[in-house]
Amino acid sequence: MNTEIKNKYIDFLTSICKIETPSDNKANIDKMVDFIQKFAIEQNLQTERFSFSEAGDFLLIKTRECENEKPILLMAHMDTVHKIGAFGDEVVSSVDNWLYGPGVMDCKGGIALGLCVMERLKADSNLKRPVYFLLTSDEEVSSRFSGQTGKDLIIDTAKRAAAVFNLEPSRPRSVTVGRKGILKMRAEIFGVAAHAGNAYFDGASAIKEAAHMVLEIEGLSQREGITYNCGVINGGTVPNTVADKCSIDIDIRVSSMEEMQKAEQTMCDLSQRNVVENTHRTVTVMSKRPPMMVNDKNLQLLEKWNIAAKNLGMDEFKGIIKGGGSDAAYTVMAGTPTLCSCGPIGYGEHTRNEKVDLSTFDDIAELISNTIKLI
Ligand SMILES: [Zn+2]
Repeated sequence: MNTEIKNKYIDFLTSICKIETPSDNKANIDKMVDFIQKFAIEQNLQTERFSFSEAGDFLLIKTRECENEKPILLMAHMDTVHKIGAFGDEVVSSVDNWLYGPGVMDCKGGIALGLCVMERLKADSNLKRPVYFLLTSDEEVSSRFSGQTGKDLIIDTAKRAAAVFNLEPSRPRSVTVGRKGILKMRAEIFGVAAHAGNAYFDGASAIKEAAHMVLEIEGLSQREGITYNCGVINGGTVPNTVADKCSIDIDIRVSSMEEMQKAEQTMCDLSQRNVVENTHRTVTVMSKRPPMMVNDKNLQLLEKWNIAAKNLGMDEFKGIIKGGGSDAAYTVMAGTPTLCSCGPIGYGEHTRNEKVDLSTFDDIAELISNTIKLI
């Protein structure tokens, strides 16, 4: 890639990172969609925008309309886990070949990389298939805002495609062929409020009951099986009142839909009991993301990826299974061969130290482009 093109995409990546896009901030995500759409049109790409009332809009970018051949689908998401201002006033910074910023690897680096791949392939008159690039807006919250419409849009677009490359961040010499599914649940515990000094024994502490429940839930986790993480607790109002309410947000990771059902049932069973007298528990499903199941189609696509890597003189890539979920779960459900974590190499996703290695952009863009030519 010549320096001019590379700089164009680094500038583009810097600009989109400066528009901070937490999953629940539709206004900022839409602002970013405006920016990306304008950029794509300037590169002579076609765009189609899908509006949502609560979620940020989705954007589909195409090298051209498909005629006979099925397109190749690239995917990435525009939302990040970072709250606005989390990276301070200087949102994006760089040290040597590393760029730091909210979403710089997860997944805005993937957006820049995908557009860079489209620019390469658009100029290639031998390429038989069009390339589509679907940008979603609430991946980090398992499609909570775009709901079934968002999931259906991913599935329908993937069904029409010959293969999917999800440009989530990568690690050297590996791509993801399977991912765990995520069940997010909220437990609410209700007790009886009372003055902590005058009527302590008239109260029933929801917090104390929640403490029992946390140990019961976390005790279910198995290293080689389902894991349960009580990640957020909210309860009580002031120190001198026995708390009558407490909630626990729980993140459950599963390897199959059977495990998802089993975990949900286990949580329902737990909600039927209590330890502290006069308290009771409820549980609610907040969101579900199915696992990205490993299958032969994904593994065959990995073989093509490795043929392209070998042709470029690169070492073999391993197919790995990850604990974190992604939108690739839906493209596998659609029956389309899928590889995930095909994006730029980076470290520190979901932390203040998130960074992407700009020096790897060229190689990965070339590898994706060459794999697409084999399909
Ligand atoms: Zn991501």
